[in-house]
Amino acid sequence: MDRATRTPVVPLEAGAGPQNPPCPACGEPLFGWIDRRPGLAGPVSRCESCGLGVVGEPGGAEEALRELDRLGDDGRTATIADRGGFSAWIGGAGWAGLERDSRYLFTVEAVRRLIARRDQVVSSARWSPGRGITAMWQTILNGFTFGRNVALGALGRGSAVPAGKTWQRRLDALISVVVAVPALLVAIPLELLAAALRRGGASTLRFELL
Ligand SMILES: [Zn+2]
Repeated sequence: MDRATRTPVVPLEAGAGPQNPPCPACGEPLFGWIDRRPGLAGPVSRCESCGLGVVGEPGGAEEALRELDRLGDDGRTATIADRGGFSAWIGGAGWAGLERDSRYLFTVEAVRRLIARRDQVVSSARWSPGRGITAMWQTILNGFTFGRNVALGALGRGSAVPAGKTWQRRLDALISVVVAVPALLVAIPLELLAAALRRGGASTLRFELL
């Protein structure tokens, strides 16, 4: 992430205000994280307490829970791209989990806080190896391309945010092919290490009623 795109960081003590609306999961103030990018509905903010990321204006807990339930099965499981993972940390604006039309970027802790509102607890949280390695791989590729998530889009595993110009899109397609294998050779050990440090890029969570 280059210097110009970095959003100023405000100390947590500055508290909630018009610039720092409350986190839908835990109520702590949200702080700027990433400026608006193509394919995103608005700038991205994040909660320094539970880690939830929000694209655009935050909604309420109900809306965030609805989004969470779209990621799993009937309000009992959800597989999240973890904003607390290592790939999100190294990727920043190039993190593969920042998908087109993303609204909420979950962490295990944010999910824990959200589902507590409907008397549920996280009964298990398991690293999702396939999703985690894929996210790390695409995050690395995003560092080489003009567009975002080009390879995943081409593989039908996500929705790409193509670059603006034709020559950039052509170059992105070429780069994605050339760098695919070397990026995978880096992504696998990195994500394995991240998972060993409990910072994997994707987790499957199970919920139970209290
Ligand atoms: Zn929060």
